[in-house]
Amino acid sequence: MRIGIDLGGTKIEIAALDRDGATVVRRRVPTPPADYAATVARIGELVESVERELGEAGTVGVGTPGSPSPATGLMRNANSTVLNGMPLIADLERRLARPVRIENDANCFALSEASDGSAAGAPCAFGVILGTGVGGGIVANGAIVRGANGIAGEWGHNPLPWPKPEELPGPRCYCGKDGCIETFLSGPAFARDHAAGGGAPLDAAAIVAAADAGDPASVASFERYLDRATRAFAAVINVLDPDVVVLGGGMSNVARLYDAVMRRLPAYVFSDSVSTRVVAAAHGDSSGVRGAAWLWPAT
Ligand SMILES: [Zn+2]
Repeated sequence: MRIGIDLGGTKIEIAALDRDGATVVRRRVPTPPADYAATVARIGELVESVERELGEAGTVGVGTPGSPSPATGLMRNANSTVLNGMPLIADLERRLARPVRIENDANCFALSEASDGSAAGAPCAFGVILGTGVGGGIVANGAIVRGANGIAGEWGHNPLPWPKPEELPGPRCYCGKDGCIETFLSGPAFARDHAAGGGAPLDAAAIVAAADAGDPASVASFERYLDRATRAFAAVINVLDPDVVVLGGGMSNVARLYDAVMRRLPAYVFSDSVSTRVVAAAHGDSSGVRGAAWLWPAT
């Protein structure tokens, strides 16, 4: 049995997969707010309760915001900043008395979709989470590409490509820079951009619904979003040239985003033809927790 944990800023999700990859248990609990020790304890209790219920011990993989630093083993780059600087792997291994694997949540997402989801069989997949934050992960030939610094795919904190004058310097990002892709493409960023452009204070889903209903301000906001998403993907395609770009997170539920982005890609991709597929995650919001379980081979 493989157990996956998706440790988010507001909830912790656990899933147990059987040897065929089917989910046999899945549940979620709130993340203890701003309390690292309580978070480690909560994960320990979740694993133990699932193992008691199923009468079996499992391997444990954890998807987190940010990732452990290859240099120190300490967590870094997490937007839920309570994790940063903490020895999460060592603390979980002590609590659970077994080896634990930890990966960035976008890497877990990409691994899940490349293993048995929308990017299954693709030689190279770029997984993108467009949610409250923006993350990316790369899976090539079935394996996560980590990179020398453990940040491969961390594209949300690159600057927005081909910026227009009104997009400079761009919004301030929590990482300390201005105009990161995340500050344009996250759900909250979309809502902020809409309000800044004179639109009503709506969340991302409501703006898309208003655009569908023909509201001119919402149509304009969504068009800006689509063009920025296309530029951000095109810059990755020009470097990595993945076969599939697979999207997760709240914005991935916008059905008409896919055709709209693929129609716009040829304007930015350095090629006479563009065959890259931009697709929605097959496993929806359980991709993260499934990918965390996939961090260990089937036993
Ligand atoms: Zn940033």
